[in-house]
Amino acid sequence: MNITVIGTGYVGLVSGVCFSELGNNVICVDNNVEKVNMLMDGHVPIYEPGLKDIMNANMKAGRLSFTTNIQDAISRSNIIIIAVGTPSLPNGEANLSFIELVAREIGSYMDNYKIIMTKSTVPVGTNDRIQEWISSLTNHPFDMASVPEFLREGTAVQDTLYPDRIVIGTHSERAVATLKELHQPLTDQIIVTDIRSAEMIKYASNAFLATKISFINEISNICEKVGADVSRVAEGMGYDRRIGASFLKAGIGYGGSCFPKDTQALIQIAGNVDYDFKLLKSVVEVNKDQRFNVIRKLEDALGSLEGKEIAIWGLAFKPDTDDVRDAPAIEIIQRLLEQGAVIRAYDPIATENFRKEVDSPSITWEERAMKAAEGADALCVLTEWKEFMEVNLTDLAAHMNQPILIDGRNIYGEDQIKDTSFQYYSVGRPGLT
Ligand code: NAD
Repeated sequence: MNITVIGTGYVGLVSGVCFSELGNNVICVDNNVEKVNMLMDGHVPIYEPGLKDIMNANMKAGRLSFTTNIQDAISRSNIIIIAVGTPSLPNGEANLSFIELVAREIGSYMDNYKIIMTKSTVPVGTNDRIQEWISSLTNHPFDMASVPEFLREGTAVQDTLYPDRIVIGTHSERAVATLKELHQPLTDQIIVTDIRSAEMIKYASNAFLATKISFINEISNICEKVGADVSRVAEGMGYDRRIGASFLKAGIGYGGSCFPKDTQALIQIAGNVDYDFKLLKSVVEVNKDQRFNVIRKLEDALGSLEGKEIAIWGLAFKPDTDDVRDAPAIEIIQRLLEQGAVIRAYDPIATENFRKEVDSPSITWEERAMKAAEGADALCVLTEWKEFMEVNLTDLAAHMNQPILIDGRNIYGEDQIKDTSFQYYSVGRPGLT
């Protein structure tokens, strides 16, 4: 099939590359000239394991190309995928300005029948609006489909090539047939539904996962007070197939480009139809506060944080990505700076992106984990990067001014901690602190 993907971010680029890997001809369009030039030279502007090799192989095979020329790309394609961003507006609603612009461009450049497939996460009813924006500018026939994306950054290629399910929301039999054929090589688990249900499936899925995280974080807070161990509690719960083991890891809460904005957007979607989504509001509130447990534990260990040297390991919102959008580390570091702490920060790959969000003369950006911890009064682990798990903790304690370790992601076990001099704080495991 001949496919145009508009937007070459985490979703558009990975989808485009993977569809070309399946043998389709794919043109990826972006209006960011610098990004497109990088891609044309075979460089990947984001960190995503495994992506570069498949991308370069498909470029070489002549199935994958990059351009800023949206008109040319549209004229050569029968499927147009919209994968531009839908960030939050200040009131929490999804900003649809990028979507509208792209829809109007598609409308202007339509020259024959096409399927318009929206992968961006958009509020319920948005695909109907996209249809209107396009129709207002063309008489050529087209079909709309909502095919929400469920990939996770850090495992995006795997998730795209081996998805749990594909959701196709459309009212057109013709689009169902074509999109089933496109996705069949990926999975047999294809759910065909109406457009609004497809749009809602995406929000409901993310809201549910966010709820699991906030739920286990609240359980962890109670565990700390009653002397139970949340990791054992989660393990015991997770074997129940009705519950499932995933997303039951206590920590400093969720971040990233999806859960925070999608939960806020769903609260707004509900609010717009006069429904007060109380449960989800609490999920968001719990998540916002959970990250500050790191500060509370630091104060517990050190008293005032004024002038204290705090090492931070991990800035990305999760491991194996350089994405720092809504990363808990942002607010934690801002709060530490407000309290007069001096920060020594390290992340394997996200530092450059993070510095665009928070920078201060009171932060030193280190290139090695051990260097960041050297002479520090305390160390906070904020992202569960594998390299942090492999550190020799006795060695680490010896490098620090005070051996205080706040493990915001529960990456260390009792075996690793028990023979060290660390004053150790984790999440919901009071027996280890
Ligand atoms: P992103 O911000 O990384 O990428 C968006 C891209 O679109 C950018 O490269 C931008 O330059 C480009 N763009 C914007 N306007 C354009 C235009 N008019 N013409 C051409 N290109 C344009 O976003 P993302 O993380 O890939 O997310 C895209 C969508 O997918 C969002 O709706 C998001 O909620 C959803 N989503 C994201 C993830 C994720 O893990 N990142 C997962 C599932 C769904």
